[in-house]
Amino acid sequence: MYQSPRGTQDILPEDTVVWRHVEHHAEATARRFGYAEIRTPTFEETGLFERGVGEGTDIVDKEIYRLQRKESGADLALRPEATASIVRAYLQHGMASRPQPVKLFSLITAFRYDRPQAGRYREFRQFDIEAIGDEDPLIDAEVIGVLWRFLEELGLRDLTIQLNSIGDPVCRPEYVKALVAYYEPHEAELCADCRRRLHTSPLRLLDCKKPGCQPLADNAPRTIDFLCKPCEEHFSALQGYLEVMGLPYELTPRLVRGLDYYTRTVFEVVPPKTGSQAAIGGGGRYDGLAEILGGKPTPGVGFAAGMDRIILNMREQGCSLPTADVPDVFFAPLGDQAKLVAARLAEEARRDGLAVVVGTGDRSMRARMRQAGQSGARFAVILGNDELREQRATVKNLAGGEQQAVPFADLTTFLAPTVRHSDVEQEAAL
Ligand code: AMP
Repeated sequence: MYQSPRGTQDILPEDTVVWRHVEHHAEATARRFGYAEIRTPTFEETGLFERGVGEGTDIVDKEIYRLQRKESGADLALRPEATASIVRAYLQHGMASRPQPVKLFSLITAFRYDRPQAGRYREFRQFDIEAIGDEDPLIDAEVIGVLWRFLEELGLRDLTIQLNSIGDPVCRPEYVKALVAYYEPHEAELCADCRRRLHTSPLRLLDCKKPGCQPLADNAPRTIDFLCKPCEEHFSALQGYLEVMGLPYELTPRLVRGLDYYTRTVFEVVPPKTGSQAAIGGGGRYDGLAEILGGKPTPGVGFAAGMDRIILNMREQGCSLPTADVPDVFFAPLGDQAKLVAARLAEEARRDGLAVVVGTGDRSMRARMRQAGQSGARFAVILGNDELREQRATVKNLAGGEQQAVPFADLTTFLAPTVRHSDVEQEAAL
């Protein structure tokens, strides 16, 4: 028997209702902030990710899924994230001529070849936001605001926004020099990865997860102590906006992104139970990215939130989750003649907008009513021998038990208001 590949998941019907709820909420939140949807391909030229995510990152060096089709000559890869593709689309379609910033959201499936564990998969889903074409710190605050509003309204509690500024190409070289000078005398104490990165991407030493490297990283020089004046002003304006918007943040000096085109703002949202897989969303400013992809210098800021981890956290925190969809009405026919009538009447009811299931197979009325109960429907339309003879269906309220005879000809006009009325009553009872 085949199994789903390692690191992937099947999302079953009882869970897809939860997924749809979270995705719908993501979309609604993005739209409330003025973001429009973009959909880009699931695969791109590998070079886009090598440049746009960056050689030297784990994502590109170890985790890319390459597609092999030798005859096409193209070197393609499954996307490991959304930003590079969205900035490519912005450049390709000349979106710089639209009103700036161009504010986009996307719900994507991403792929990374990583060691699977709870909250870390090889195929996973992200809610992504990008605001391209504006360097105003207000837009950084707004991007963080979208993520916060989204998570808070899902019912997640005790989250922390970690925030830092990593400067820009003007001030970062000084910082990197200080960082390397700080680490060099301790080179022998570092893990193998950190020793290698010390001379290739030293910023990444700050987010090494190995226990042996922690004390050194904790005491390392801080990026915010090296910001040039414009970066410092940007960061302090951002904090001012976050405060008036009521977004709680914690300055987190060790939070970094290791690549040159990331500038200024970086942030992550973490749940109360921390660990290496903890971040449920993160992002920052990438003012150098468009240029690296061959475009004009164009500022940008965005985030990606991990939907799988959000849903895991919602379950852990006992957030309210939607329950499975149920039909409005279950038709319970007894015998072939009744099934013909059921097929016709059910179709009329569906045309009227009701969700209708017809009992199939040959079953006794007892088994049929069990089927009706299992379907979760609120009403059953019973079509037995008496009903066929009298051309009247028995409509039974499955919760309350009361029932009523309704002529076939009147069934549709009877059902729709009855179902809707019971909807209102149910909502009032909640
Ligand atoms: P990143 O692009 O690495 O900053 O990831 C953004 C968010 O996507 C993270 O905060 C996670 O919530 C989520 N994420 C990243 N990698 C994975 C993965 N392998 N499995 C599940 N979620 C992931």
